[in-house]
Amino acid sequence: MNNPSDIPFLDLVTPHVELEQELTEVFRQALHTAGFIGGPAIEKFEKAFASFCDTSYSAAVSSGTDALRFALIASGIKPGDVVVTVPNTFIATTEAISQAGALPEFVDINESTYNMDPAKLAAYLETQCTVTDAGTLVSRRSGRPVRGVVPVHLYGQMADMDPILELAALHRLVVIEDACQAHGAEYFSRKHNRWMKAGSMGRAAAFSFYPGKNLGACGEGGAVTTSDEGIANTVKMLRDHGQAKKYYHDMEGYNGRLDAIQAGILHAKLAHLSKWNTHRRERAAEYKRLFLAAEPVVVLPEEPSWSRAVYHLYVVRAADRDGLMDHLKKMGIGTGIHYPIPLHRQKAYASLNYQPGDFSASEKAAAEILSLPMYPQLTAEQQAQVVHEILQFARITATPNRAGGKPVTSERAA
Ligand SMILES: *Cc1c(COP(=O)(O)O)cnc(C)c1O
Repeated sequence: MNNPSDIPFLDLVTPHVELEQELTEVFRQALHTAGFIGGPAIEKFEKAFASFCDTSYSAAVSSGTDALRFALIASGIKPGDVVVTVPNTFIATTEAISQAGALPEFVDINESTYNMDPAKLAAYLETQCTVTDAGTLVSRRSGRPVRGVVPVHLYGQMADMDPILELAALHRLVVIEDACQAHGAEYFSRKHNRWMKAGSMGRAAAFSFYPGKNLGACGEGGAVTTSDEGIANTVKMLRDHGQAKKYYHDMEGYNGRLDAIQAGILHAKLAHLSKWNTHRRERAAEYKRLFLAAEPVVVLPEEPSWSRAVYHLYVVRAADRDGLMDHLKKMGIGTGIHYPIPLHRQKAYASLNYQPGDFSASEKAAAEILSLPMYPQLTAEQQAQVVHEILQFARITATPNRAGGKPVTSERAA
């Protein structure tokens, strides 16, 4: 794919070239002060990111995976606990649970939002767990205490947090948001009667600054957000060998710091994030307009009335997903699958003993989803080309509406 008319799945070059001066200034500053680890650049970024997320604190760490692991440990998840999440996510979600010493168990997603289905969480808690005489909620499949929930705000859209938080409160579970794909996403909480930011609703939340995320470093990075001062302080110790001050170790920790150059770069880029997210929403609206003007050939992403998604990914569904993907590739259009194998079907989790069919919504999604090009710099012309090729493919295969069930969906409250 080297044609000038090719449309890449992701364009990471343009935004960095646009900010070249600002970003190289960060590096120059670091060279002139040798302030590579810790220091004012970290604190400045942490303050700004907490403010962006409407939380009291943020703690910058080395990756989204570490952010999740530290958030789980700092909020009291102990070895042997069960933490519930979804199979339709990146493996980092469950790796962090395992790395905290806990055991991941799954509940299925909602078929139209691709995020944790609160009804399925309720069913899990009520039918697959028992309460001991001591009042502990225990999972039947593992016999272990259920202590946490990790809703994942996948593709830039928040999970339906009100009912998830209500169930968690009822069963005394700690909620850690996996907001690694959702910087700036918002959720209308009926409970609080206002829009709330991703990262501000759980006990703590994890963000990733992997380069391709909506806010990306020029390398690795992550952050925990929380309004609990104790959790923020514990995460800051965990990332730095459990030090309260240099060489005074209150506990064993990790080497999980964000470096100062990345913090400076992220601080510079954070100033552009709202604008970039607005552009992503405009691109999503343009895809929708283009698709709705034609026959229904793919299922469009659904944005419930309580959601303002930031479209980290623009995910459609097609019955012949692999055929469509091949066709687009031939036409010079990059796409991705997020993710092709649900976690309960991954080799890494064979020991958890889940079976095919255990999470049918996740399995069906994995077979049909396709992520189209989506980034703030994508042009309307490029999008018209993408949609044109998708319609072409539908014409070639000549069986429209093969996605079955619902064809193109319009946005509506779930
Ligand atoms: C990217 C991502 C992570 C992990 O972040 P890293 O910075 O790559 O460690 C975790 N969860 C989800 C949903 C992600 O997309």
